[in-house]
Amino acid sequence: MAQTRIAPPATKNEGQWAFDQREPLNANEQFKQDDDGLNVRQRIEDVYSREGFASIPGQDLRGRMRWWGLYTQRKPGIDGGKTATLEPHELDDEYFMLRVRCDGGRLSLAQLRTIGELSTEFGRGTADVTDRQNIQLHWVRIKDVPEIWRRLEAVGLTTQEACGDVPRVILGSPVAGVAADEIIDGTPAIDIIQGQYIGDPAYSNLPRKFKTAISGSPHHDVVHEINDVSFVGVVHPELGAGFDLWVGGALAANPMLAKRLGAFVPLEDVPDVWAGVVGIFRDYGYRRLRNRARLKFLMADWGPQVFREVLEQEYLGRRLADGPEPAAPPLGRRDHVGVHPQVDGRFYVGAAPTVGRISGPLLTEVADLVEQAGSGRVRLTVEQKLVVLDVAAEQVDALVDGLEALGLQVRSASTFRRGTMACTGIEFCKLAIVETKARGAALVDELERRLPTFEHPLTINLNGCPNSCARIQVADIGLKGALAGGEEGYQVHLGGSLGVDSHLGRTLRGLRIAAEDLPEYVERVATRFDHARLEGESFAE
Ligand code: SF4
Repeated sequence: MAQTRIAPPATKNEGQWAFDQREPLNANEQFKQDDDGLNVRQRIEDVYSREGFASIPGQDLRGRMRWWGLYTQRKPGIDGGKTATLEPHELDDEYFMLRVRCDGGRLSLAQLRTIGELSTEFGRGTADVTDRQNIQLHWVRIKDVPEIWRRLEAVGLTTQEACGDVPRVILGSPVAGVAADEIIDGTPAIDIIQGQYIGDPAYSNLPRKFKTAISGSPHHDVVHEINDVSFVGVVHPELGAGFDLWVGGALAANPMLAKRLGAFVPLEDVPDVWAGVVGIFRDYGYRRLRNRARLKFLMADWGPQVFREVLEQEYLGRRLADGPEPAAPPLGRRDHVGVHPQVDGRFYVGAAPTVGRISGPLLTEVADLVEQAGSGRVRLTVEQKLVVLDVAAEQVDALVDGLEALGLQVRSASTFRRGTMACTGIEFCKLAIVETKARGAALVDELERRLPTFEHPLTINLNGCPNSCARIQVADIGLKGALAGGEEGYQVHLGGSLGVDSHLGRTLRGLRIAAEDLPEYVERVATRFDHARLEGESFAE
């Protein structure tokens, strides 16, 4: 960090390292200072995988193992009413969720096959595409983890910093480098950041998680408004194509949209600027209270102007050029489902798994289809979807037919299958209050039956608790798990949106829909919208 400090101190000790407020302020800060989360790998390899689950001490089990993408699963059969009352160890199962980071959502054929095989062999066939372009396996036993790592790393994949208070997976446009209308390809910056900074102990103890998005797509396809730092493709009138810098977005409790700093970042400067923003978070971020530790709270106190000055003066040592704001994205869907031309004359084919749920055997079958189609590349999207790149015109129909036969709809995907997402929920997540995946899938089926001709884009996001992993506040219809009289239900948020006119949805206070009434409620809302909307009007309008 530079010596001259221009950043304003917080009004009280918020645990900011930059002001020497380093005393442990809560249990998480304590264990991070005791030993870096990255160091747990050696103990997993040498001890825990050999001596078993019972040999793992609590600080590693529920703390540092996240630095390597491992969370304990929720014990089966514990209902949502007990989530807040049981001790953490009473919720822990002896199995783990393992998150594989896929930076930029990119997977090669070999990587796809490997994840499919690992899921089948070690994860009871489970595999979910997350809305952050990761793939998560469940039912993983500690004894199998070293072998899983060995096979992942052999094909260039990792679980390092997939979870924990670290820079998580870097979101990238699923069609980076192939889309005909791309402003700029951010892939080189993603690769440099990943290679240079992921796993670097200088950035492995942050106040909380840190999320990044880099996309040069004019369709704004990486939810840049709700990441800690985002680089959004723009064209500078003198400097050409580059990125507009956004900082401080995040949902969960106290959701806040990212702020533009008004700064233009050329592609080659993205890694440095990224490191500067993460450095500010590390040094000035609030560590006193965990629920005030995300970067958005610092941004709320400083504002974009102060943040930019600190970034330029203390971290970069130079000014950034002022830049234009991103143009409004073209109207229409931005989920990549369907068949679309690439810049090189070939096609990309987007398929819609239902609420992101796939499986190991299915991944293996998809890999076979991808290979038969002459492609070697798949991408994951932030809508829990899959995209196959580089398909020659004469291979498109066979690939589409094959994917649809596997239940991965391409041309036949309904609005509801395309637009519905669900978080992990009570099946595996220890924080969950309600079921999400199965209920989301059943909701899709039922809406397709009730509204077979409904075509307008509509996003329906289901969360199992207030944490908003499935982005309920920016969905057309956001459904947040809640209990009412001991029964599972959902609190409703309506009218959230992303894009140039992004805003958070309205919470309908007092309105809680019982789980079994969901299809009827969503049908009513969707039908009313369909009848009342003007030409070209979105749900949020
Ligand atoms: Fe778990 Fe809640 Fe996140 Fe869903 S929103 S995955 S229930 S923490």
